[in-house]
Amino acid sequence: MPELPEVETIRRQLNGLIAGKRIKQVRVSLPKMVRLPLAIFKKIVVGAKINCVARRAKILIFELSNGWSLLVHLKLSGRMIFRKKGEELQEQDIKWNHLIYYFGDNSRLFHNDLRQFGWVKLIETDKLADFFVKEKFGPEPLDKDFTPDDFIAILQRRPKIKIKQFLMDPQNIAGIGNIYSDEILFCARTHPLRRAGDLRPSEIKKIFDGIRKILLQALELRGSSDRDYLDAFGREGEYVPRLKVYGREGEKCKKCLGLICRLKINGRSAHFCPACQKL
Ligand SMILES: [Zn+2]
Repeated sequence: MPELPEVETIRRQLNGLIAGKRIKQVRVSLPKMVRLPLAIFKKIVVGAKINCVARRAKILIFELSNGWSLLVHLKLSGRMIFRKKGEELQEQDIKWNHLIYYFGDNSRLFHNDLRQFGWVKLIETDKLADFFVKEKFGPEPLDKDFTPDDFIAILQRRPKIKIKQFLMDPQNIAGIGNIYSDEILFCARTHPLRRAGDLRPSEIKKIFDGIRKILLQALELRGSSDRDYLDAFGREGEYVPRLKVYGREGEKCKKCLGLICRLKINGRSAHFCPACQKL
């Protein structure tokens, strides 16, 4: 599933590509992805200009010129690929395509989704803040306002939870999923089964620093294409070769040459090095 680095990569790219463009037409071939009647959806979207593309947690927010915002969650396998006027289409542009936005300058944005768990919603822009309050998302980990003290306060709310599970819950911190929680814990040398309330201050500091370090590194390389993720230009992210533990069960630890292990925590896989990350 795309996590913060992947969704933020797409946001930055799309903001540069489509902010200021007018939506001339929209074609929907999988109506269930749009969470309201199609006629209403089209009436609101067609003719609107895109002011900017923002993000909260893993949700892309296309702010429209008419007081509405279009929210897109890519869920497991969503892609948003932009093609300018006359640009030749690639197989991945049309494969599993469910929505196409056509802009005034004849460029297009393809919303594709193999597994069809993604969704599109319209919310009035002045009600967005309420919407996100109801979703109870935790802080954005790359915000300058997110401090070590905030992190400690959130950990203290849930002392019994395992740290792997803690990091993946968007109500604690927004945007971190399976890949980056594993990488953050390896970076901090913390075993995924440690409980939030048992961590020493020095460990908490390492995890806090690890969150920023790992997410920023992944963002710089446009995220991880371990499965379906492609960026807004239809290219793979380049972070997979840099992964230290995620998806590397049975392979050698890049630090100590021991073997990377995998265990299940609440139905999700945690990858870690038992020598580098002691329980
Ligand atoms: Zn190791």
